[in-house]
Amino acid sequence: MGGGRFTDADRAMMAEAIREARLALDAGEVPVGAVVARGGEVVGRGRNRREASGDPTAHAEIEAIRGAAVAIGGWRLSDCALYVTMEPCAMCAGAAVAARLSRLAYGARDARSGCAGSVYRIPEDPAFNHFCLCDGGLLADECEALLKGFFASERGAAPPCDPPVETR
Ligand SMILES: [Zn+2]
Repeated sequence: MGGGRFTDADRAMMAEAIREARLALDAGEVPVGAVVARGGEVVGRGRNRREASGDPTAHAEIEAIRGAAVAIGGWRLSDCALYVTMEPCAMCAGAAVAARLSRLAYGARDARSGCAGSVYRIPEDPAFNHFCLCDGGLLADECEALLKGFFASERGAAPPCDPPVETR
């Protein structure tokens, strides 16, 4: 996972995804943001809206992919790349394959449920009929800081009478 594989254009796109993550944070959501890019242009944007929507599938990547498909006028996003601030889950990694995305770049690694290298590596799995190149670590420090800040403030906000939480 080398940051050297990323270009200035990649960093510019991830900066846009980070902007979306900040909007999620402002709305009290886990700060995850995503954009779909074609050439140097953003064609879809998304941010986590799970709490507000009550929808377990309202992840940033899904919203960005849906937006891109509408903008492009079709489901096949084979000339597009997805940039997301946190390693995609199984659903979103699967959506990258379903959308035929050519590339996926993420920021922070998710050791517990990431499916673009951590738990599984779905986008590059040769068992599928589509290969989506994936790579992590793009502006990772900034992406991680957002997530860490969110979870630290969540813990700080917990009322003292909360029942003890099992720690693992
Ligand atoms: Zn997801």
